[in-house]
Amino acid sequence: MTDSNQKRGTHLLVDGSDSRCSDREQALGGTAPAPLVLMVGPDARATVLGDFSVIRVERLSEALSFLDRNTATAIVADLNLPDSSGISTLQRLLNRADVSPIIVLVGETPEDHAIALKALENGASAYLPRRAATADVLGPLVESVVVTTKNSADLQRCEARLRVAVEGAGDGLWEWDFRTKAFYCSPRCSAILGFPAQETIDSPSRWFDRVHPDDLRHLHAHLDAHLEGARGSFECEHRLLNGFADPHWILARGRAVRDLDGKVTWMSGFLMDITDRRRNEEQAIHKSLHDELTGLANRGLFIDRLERSLTIPDRDGGGDLSILFVDLDHFKRVNDLYGHAAGDRVLIEVARRLESVVRPGDTVARLGGDEFGILLANVQGAELAIHVAQRILDLVSQPISVGKNEMVVNSSIGIATSDTGYQNAASIIDDADLAMYRAKSLGRSRYQVCNPLMHERAVSRVNLETELRLAVDDHQFEMHYQPIVDLGSGRVVGVEAMVRWQHPERGMLTPAEFIDVAESSGLIVPLGWRVLEDACKQVGRWRRNIPESEELFLSVNLSLKILMARGMRVRLVETLERAGLPASALVLEFPEAVILDHGDHAQERLKTLRALGVRLAIDDFGLEHGSISQLDRKIFDMLKLDPSITERVNDVSSGDRLPPSLIGVAAQLGVEVVAEGVETGEQLEALCRLGCRLAQGFWFASPAKAEAVEDALTQPPQWWTNPRGVWKSWQQT
Ligand code: C2E
Ligand code: MG
Ligand code: MG
Repeated sequence: MTDSNQKRGTHLLVDGSDSRCSDREQALGGTAPAPLVLMVGPDARATVLGDFSVIRVERLSEALSFLDRNTATAIVADLNLPDSSGISTLQRLLNRADVSPIIVLVGETPEDHAIALKALENGASAYLPRRAATADVLGPLVESVVVTTKNSADLQRCEARLRVAVEGAGDGLWEWDFRTKAFYCSPRCSAILGFPAQETIDSPSRWFDRVHPDDLRHLHAHLDAHLEGARGSFECEHRLLNGFADPHWILARGRAVRDLDGKVTWMSGFLMDITDRRRNEEQAIHKSLHDELTGLANRGLFIDRLERSLTIPDRDGGGDLSILFVDLDHFKRVNDLYGHAAGDRVLIEVARRLESVVRPGDTVARLGGDEFGILLANVQGAELAIHVAQRILDLVSQPISVGKNEMVVNSSIGIATSDTGYQNAASIIDDADLAMYRAKSLGRSRYQVCNPLMHERAVSRVNLETELRLAVDDHQFEMHYQPIVDLGSGRVVGVEAMVRWQHPERGMLTPAEFIDVAESSGLIVPLGWRVLEDACKQVGRWRRNIPESEELFLSVNLSLKILMARGMRVRLVETLERAGLPASALVLEFPEAVILDHGDHAQERLKTLRALGVRLAIDDFGLEHGSISQLDRKIFDMLKLDPSITERVNDVSSGDRLPPSLIGVAAQLGVEVVAEGVETGEQLEALCRLGCRLAQGFWFASPAKAEAVEDALTQPPQWWTNPRGVWKSWQQT
């Protein structure tokens, strides 16, 4: 034993001499385990290897019993021992030696070489020919084997620790090999994704398929950003939809490993179920934005939504809104007479009633005390707000039972609408507030619109709607018909039905004065059906009774609301049957703008009507050039030139190409053209020159009651008789 060896640590020589026992005791009893090399074999000669002390034993049994109680930093073992030989020596050592690297010593025959290779495959760290195993060679070999084994053991330990930590924390591990496309998901990871824990998830697409569709893009964007190197790590919170009743929230994290070229070879990470955290956060956010008592939006959220709605650009349908300020009348008395608990119950009930009068997407808020705010989004004018206000006045004043008491509270409402051009939430709120105070000062239990002009206009529209409702029930309408003339023969070949309202006080109203309100209120549906039924009956009678009119066709303006109504086709067939009118005698007109606005869905409906044999016309054609493309779809049989286009036929000689090209395109597509609004002989002449076959307008006849039109149907028309083109209206003769 040299000084230098003693300095390095325990220097043991285990070679069957007596010193063995005391050496073992020292090894067992030593405080810190010293780096030891266990040399096993009869020929083992070295006593010290590099920085390591050596314990020498001859037999495998000795080595094993040493290892039962000690650990060796490395083992150098001859495979041929007195009590064991070949590969089984290695296996028995490995069973005991935990992670110690083992260097095996073998002979030099080819068989020995084969055994050495087998030993490497089975867990030996290196081999040496027995003859070369001198201290000089073994020392560095042991050191290098110890270092590499330590590194890989450290790595394994690290991995194992990480797994335990991650799985212990309830997170799931995933690994993704980009070269082999192999994907691994730990059982916990499968469970987080909603799969049975034992199910093998061998592809990332099984994960992605479960991602909430709204979050998928966001997940891929994060993943790609990391894989492309734009972000140092991957981290994304997303929802899972499949497999769960409620969406689950997942936090996915990971990091890619790249090769020297920067190409991703491997990625691993973990998934964490953060549903509870998100739910708590959402609850906290909800709490901060809502009124605790009623659960309604609070003032902050109301103002935020209002500001957002005001800033949505017009073209996106935003910016148009109304707000209502609802204040309960004399609410203080409820608190004073019945106590605050009763007051709270009343507020909760009022909140529920207010919520019941709005549409999804609108906001009802408690602004404070007994004051509520309602935001109606995407509405123009004050009509809807007035409707809502009327409903609120009515609903809120219904008795509210609190315990044994029944109480009645009324409300006053102020309305402001964005039509007045507000730039910010504060000013529209101020106006609604002012209007509300005006409603109070005018006697409470009423609503008031902030802008007097708008108020008037809105009220008159609301009144008109009420009157129109009555008029539809009473049928205060009559039909007028305008002849449609064949310019080739001069005969009336069709009539267009136009509705008129015989208003009890205001006299006869034309559609311009009420069709909009009929449309927006939905009253156009019963009204339109009545128009269609009356007109079909009338034209059926004419076709049967007037020989010249047996081929007369009827053109009717139809609302899109009727077109899209359920059961429309069946009712139309019944109407035609009752009137004794073949489907081919009916032309249904739809304004050009309506067709353009209601794309494919309407087209499908139109096709089913056309299949019945009914003909379809585009009304007011030429205002929106886009509908030329509709002609191509072979849905429409007829187009009715808008009077503004008819007017331009006179200018054709001075170079206006629009009327001739519209008429030309229609002719090419086999679509009949009716020029509407013909008012002068010059227009008529020009239309004839352009080859337009059908026309209607004041020049021939204004829309008139059925009896007046009968004359035009039976008498030969005068406008046709002058072949030189000095056209005269038969009405004027
Ligand atoms: P429209 O279908 O384009 O009807 C033609 C309109 O032009 C009629 O107005 C008619 O009186 C008017 N008119 C006729 N000849 C001339 C003329 O020579 N010059 C000019 N400037 N105008 C002429 P009316 O009856 O006031 O109808 C207006 C619109 O109301 C109609 O336009 C149609 O879109 C709609 N309408 C009329 N009746 C009904 C109906 O029963 N149901 C539906 N949904 N809409 C209808
Ligand atoms: Mg029309
Ligand atoms: Mg028209």
